[in-house]
Amino acid sequence: MRYLIIGAGPAGVNAAETLRRLDGDASIGIVGDEPEPPYSRMAIPYLLMNQIKEQGTHLRERDDHFDAMGIELIQARVERVESAAHRVILGDGNVIEYDKLLIATGSSAARPLLPGIDGDNVSTCWTLADARLIQQRVPANARVALIGAGFIGSIILEALGMRGVQLAVIEQGDRMVPRMMAPNASELLKRWCESKGVSVYTGVGVDAIEPNGVILANGTHIGADLVITATGVRPNTAFLAGSDVKVEQGVLIDRHFRTSAADVYAAGDVAQGLDFCTGEYSVHAIQPTAADHGHLAATNMSGSAVAYEGSMNMNVLDTLGLLSCSFGTWQGVEGGEHAELYAPDDYRYLSLQFEDDRVIGANAVGLSQHVGILRGLIQRRTPLGDWKQRLQRDPTRLMEAYLATTQVI
Ligand SMILES: Cc1cc2nc3c(=O)[nH]c(=O)nc-3n(C[C@H](O)[C@H](O)[C@H](O)COP(=O)(O)OP(=O)(O)OC[C@H]3O[C@@H](n4cnc5c(N)ncnc54)[C@H](O)[C@@H]3O)c2cc1C
Repeated sequence: MRYLIIGAGPAGVNAAETLRRLDGDASIGIVGDEPEPPYSRMAIPYLLMNQIKEQGTHLRERDDHFDAMGIELIQARVERVESAAHRVILGDGNVIEYDKLLIATGSSAARPLLPGIDGDNVSTCWTLADARLIQQRVPANARVALIGAGFIGSIILEALGMRGVQLAVIEQGDRMVPRMMAPNASELLKRWCESKGVSVYTGVGVDAIEPNGVILANGTHIGADLVITATGVRPNTAFLAGSDVKVEQGVLIDRHFRTSAADVYAAGDVAQGLDFCTGEYSVHAIQPTAADHGHLAATNMSGSAVAYEGSMNMNVLDTLGLLSCSFGTWQGVEGGEHAELYAPDDYRYLSLQFEDDRVIGANAVGLSQHVGILRGLIQRRTPLGDWKQRLQRDPTRLMEAYLATTQVI
């Protein structure tokens, strides 16, 4: 059996290792277009904070790890997939044939269409190459304008803040992390950042990037030595144009990770897979989903039919010392009930969203002890019975509710 994987990120690497464990004789190859050993983008902030060296971003510690597992790493870009002929065409024209193919090409940072975006004072923070440039161009005390305060933007904010730069963050949405947090929670994050010396502009876009900073839509000029954009991500699917592989928001997969093309599977940021909470198919673009997808896609590729339960959308942020998280359907559902605690002076916030007597989503700020419990209650779909009313009166009694409803005595 010849397995080929496109993409050497967490989804692709997990898949290759799973395939090797399940099939000792198969030929397994990973084609990846970045000139690095497989690495984790999630580790980039720690590199920027000088907490690790580049080696620490690598997904596997030993250089000979993949050789030792009999997994071939091929550095090349796949330009086209010809699924009927079971082959892919590389950038240099070479052809690789496969029996089963996994698309694990991840996503790329979207670049906003702004005057000045191509200037050499502008970068994304998505790859190791970007991280090297930022390390070079951003000593402590440099001035940085960060465009975008979504989940990834806020992770970059933390890294830059800890690096000691003078930071201005611009978010055109009405609040920070608008797709992750309720307004009251976002407000706490903004106030916290400002109290730490970060300038935060919300509800205003950037009109243009200039060599010495950015101009906001309201005319404000913000001086910056480097402009970093974090304005969303896009699944890497361009090379599938003209193929039989169906792409909507990402590559559409079923519960067995199969795409619309025979013997072609997809996993990770590039895949539009089952959402555990909503039952719909969406792109989650987070690392836990990529790792789960990779493992389970490989299991299905190797011939075991294991249906995926779906991934839960979850984001955890450490923003200059303030922990926040969002899980599942944090916005709630029509007809659902909710509970909320808002203690702005203490930078604490907790909201729980219910459907019947189950928690289906949550936001928390400044309450790190609840992170694991929130995830557990949602993932287990635990019926709360009487505890729902008690939590509506006091949502901080989560631990008691968890123990009372999940422990069999
Ligand atoms: C700075 C930063 C911080 C992050 N922090 C977190 C976090 O705290 N928590 C979290 O859950 N997620 C985080 N993420 C997101 C997380 O990194 C991604 O969800 C994860 O990398 C997805 O893994 P993947 O294997 O699907 O894709 P990727 O890691 O993107 O790997 C895909 C690989 O495929 C390659 N490729 C693409 N097209 C081709 C082609 N045609 N031919 C060959 N190779 C190709 C790409 O270049 C890439 O190397 C962060 C991301 C960034 C940038």
